[in-house]
Amino acid sequence: MAGVIVITGGSRGIGAACAKLAAEAGYDVCLNYRSNAKAADGMVSQIAADGGRAKAVAGDVGDNDDVIALFKAADEMGQVKGLINNAGILDVRARVDEMPPERLERIMRVNILGSFFCAREAVRRMSTAKGGEGGAIVNLSSAAARLGAASQYVDYAASKGAIDTFTRGLALEVAGEGIRVNGVRPGIIDTDIHASGGEPDRARELRDIVPVKREGTAEEVAQAVLWLMSGKASYVTGATLDVTGGR
Ligand code: NAP
Repeated sequence: MAGVIVITGGSRGIGAACAKLAAEAGYDVCLNYRSNAKAADGMVSQIAADGGRAKAVAGDVGDNDDVIALFKAADEMGQVKGLINNAGILDVRARVDEMPPERLERIMRVNILGSFFCAREAVRRMSTAKGGEGGAIVNLSSAAARLGAASQYVDYAASKGAIDTFTRGLALEVAGEGIRVNGVRPGIIDTDIHASGGEPDRARELRDIVPVKREGTAEEVAQAVLWLMSGKASYVTGATLDVTGGR
């Protein structure tokens, strides 16, 4: 079921690994990023060098107008058939009673509203009830949604708890319209997100608390995401898969 796939935060980390696998699966990849144009252009060049088709579009998923522009750019590539709601952020370690309102607003806006805005645009294009051809959506959650991330980032964990509920609710809402919606809950994965939380070595430092005794790779998460996107998961909807090494 090739076509255009929109991947938010597709320039680095898990999103970039998804972009690579999506192109290999035959999708035309519309990859979004926020500000690092160099990384995004690098992904587009890598996909093109491997024989795929990709385009990078800058925009903040927490900004409704940016999301509308992102999907207009995707439309120029062809029929949108998939969305990976991957862009997500966290902040430095803090207790809830220390979190300023601006931080809370930013985390909830990007992680929750961003996923809603993008899903809305995807459903408008893919729903068979609206003239679309169907498709699939995968939302990136986190093991933190189950664990709570106490004294680290409960705000982030709670935003991912919202994503788990969003996955379930949206899946049921569009199940009869040719769209499957699933989630993936990564555990401790070796990407730059930990540096953005002030702990660049977090994945390596925590590997001993993971039952399989190592951190995961972005590609290991992307393989699960692309399976859920694919026709091989044709009877799977409303599910969220843990990719956590048992954690
Ligand atoms: P990452 O390495 O920090 O990459 C972030 C990507 O998202 C970049 O492409 C970045 O673009 C983009 N981005 C950030 N804010 C954005 C915004 N407001 N609008 C659009 N794009 C934005 O992240 P990651 O570790 O791959 O995480 C990907 C997803 O997996 C997130 O939802 C995260 O919560 C989830 N997750 C990760 C882990 C983990 O251990 N890594 C664990 C559980 C869940 P720029 O390069 O332009 O900044």
